[in-house]
Amino acid sequence: MMIILQGKGVSSGIARGRLSFLTRKSLSVEKRSVDDVEKEVDRFNAAKLSAANQLDALAASMVDKIGEENAMLFEIHRMMLEDSDYCDPIVELIKTEKVCAEYAVNTAGSRLAQEFADMDNEYMKVRAIDIYDVSRRVIEILSGEAQGRVGHDNAVILAADDFTPSETAQLDRSTVCALVSRQGAANSHTAIFARTMGIPAIIGFGAFLSDDLSGKEAAIDGETGVLYIDPEPTVLADLDEKAEQERREKDALEQMRGKPTRTKSGREIKLCANIGSVNDATAALAGDAEGIGLFRSEFLYLGRNDYPSEDVQYDSYRKVLEKMGHRQVIIRTLDIGADKQAAYFELPKEENPALGMRAIRICLTRPDVFKTQLRAIYRASVHGNAAIMFPMIASPDELARAKSLAKETREELAAENIPFKADIPIGIMVETPASALISDVLAQEADFFSIGTNDLTQYTLAIDRQNDSLATFCNTHHDAVLRLIKMTCDNAHKAGIWCGICGSLGADLALTKTFVEIGIDELSVEPSRILKLRSVIAAC
Ligand code: PEP
Ligand code: MG
Repeated sequence: MMIILQGKGVSSGIARGRLSFLTRKSLSVEKRSVDDVEKEVDRFNAAKLSAANQLDALAASMVDKIGEENAMLFEIHRMMLEDSDYCDPIVELIKTEKVCAEYAVNTAGSRLAQEFADMDNEYMKVRAIDIYDVSRRVIEILSGEAQGRVGHDNAVILAADDFTPSETAQLDRSTVCALVSRQGAANSHTAIFARTMGIPAIIGFGAFLSDDLSGKEAAIDGETGVLYIDPEPTVLADLDEKAEQERREKDALEQMRGKPTRTKSGREIKLCANIGSVNDATAALAGDAEGIGLFRSEFLYLGRNDYPSEDVQYDSYRKVLEKMGHRQVIIRTLDIGADKQAAYFELPKEENPALGMRAIRICLTRPDVFKTQLRAIYRASVHGNAAIMFPMIASPDELARAKSLAKETREELAAENIPFKADIPIGIMVETPASALISDVLAQEADFFSIGTNDLTQYTLAIDRQNDSLATFCNTHHDAVLRLIKMTCDNAHKAGIWCGICGSLGADLALTKTFVEIGIDELSVEPSRILKLRSVIAAC
C-alpha cells in the first residue's frame, strides 16, 4: 500500500528510485586511557594537520561542483580546526582525564555541537552539523579509517538522519537522485548544496522516515515536500507529467535569458535580484539579474557575537560589486530590530518591536555603527556600480540626517585620502504609509525610491507580517497598498527619479500587469523568479 510522508521541500524537482539509508562506517571512539598525554596531544595535532590538508584539497576539488562560495565552507571547516573554542576543550580532556584523542574529539566536539544546536538563532543552530562533520573527519584520521563514507547502490533516493556538508558535496550524482532526511534545516549547507547541484531534497520527516522503509520503491516531489513510498501508478503518472511540464517550462524560460525586459509596447523595465550575502550574488547572476535591487546588508550583522568590522563589511560589499561588474548593486543600510535581532546591539525589550527601535532609527541613534557601515560601502564603491538605500524612512528629517552622516563619512574618507566614489546614488525604501504619503517631498531629496511592500503592507493594513494567524485578514492586493504604490511612483516620476518595488509583491505575477500600468521602473525579486517575471512582462 502506498505511504505518503510530508516533509519540508528544500530543493525542488521530481525523482524516483529505491530508498536507501546512508550507511556510515562506525568509528572507534572507545574511552581508552593513555599514559603519555603529551604524545596523545601530538597525535591530535598531527590528525588536525592531515584533516586541514584534506579540507584544502576538498575545497579545491568542489569548486566546479558546488561553486566557489559554497566550497569555501570547507575552508571554514579548516579554520575551525585552528579555533581555540574547538581545540582547547579537546586538549584539556586528553590532559585531565588521560583519555585517547578519538574519545576527546568525540566528546568535546559533541558538547560544542550541542551548544550550537541549542541556540535560538537558526543560523547558529545549523553550525552544529559542521562541528560534527569536522570531528568525524579528525576521528577517522586518528583511527585510521578510510574516507569512503557513503555506502549505497544504484539510482537511489538517499535517506539519513541528517547529511553533513561533506557528505552532500561528495555525493555521486550518477547514483543518488534525491535526498531525504529526518532532521535538517532549510538554511543548512546541505540544503544549499542540494539546490546548487539540482538534487531534489526534502528534510524534516522525523521518525516517520523509519529504517524499515529501506529498499522500498519511492518517489519525491521536492517542491511540495512529499515522499511517496510504493507509489501507485496514477501517482507516478502524475509526477511524470509534472516533471515533463516543468522541463518544458524551464526550456521556455531559458529563451528569456540574456534578453532585455520589455513590455508588449516596448517599455523597458529593469529586473533585479534581492540578495542577502555574497553567495546570493552568484545566484543573482545565474538567475540573469540585471542588477541587485536590494542587498539586505543586515545579514552581515546576524549570527555573530559582535559588530562586523569595517573591513569585514568592505570585503563583502567589494566581492558583491566585483561579481556584478557594471550592474548596479543597491546596498540597503542596516535594517536590524523587529524580527531581526542581534544580541550585541543590546536593544531594549519593546512591547511592539515592529513599531520600535529598528532600521534607520537605530542608525540615527548609533551614528558610530552607521558610519562604520557607510565607510565600508563608500570604500567598496570604487570596485563597481554601487548605490545606497536607507530603510524605514518616515520623514524628511530622517532622510536629511542620514544623508548628512553619509556626507560626513565622505569628508572623513577624503581627509584620510582613502579612495571612494563620491556621487553614488542615495535612495530610500518607501515602506511606511508616511513615506508614501509624503513621497512628493521625499522625492526632492532622494535619487530613487524602492517600495518595500512587505513592511508597507504590514503598516498600512496594521497586520503583523510575522503573525500567520492573521493570514485570512491579510489581503496583499488591498487597494490601500496599491494606491500608495501608485502615489509613490507618480511622485517619483514628477520629480524625475525612478521607482522600483523590492518587497515580495514585486514577484506576484497576478499584479505584474498592474505594476506595468502604474509605471514601475524596476522590480527586484528572488533570483529564481527573474526569467518567469520577464516572460510575464513581455506579455503585458
Ligand atoms: C520590505 O519591507 O518589503 C522589504 C523589502 O524589506 P524587508 O523584507 O527586508 O523588511
Ligand atoms: Mg522592510
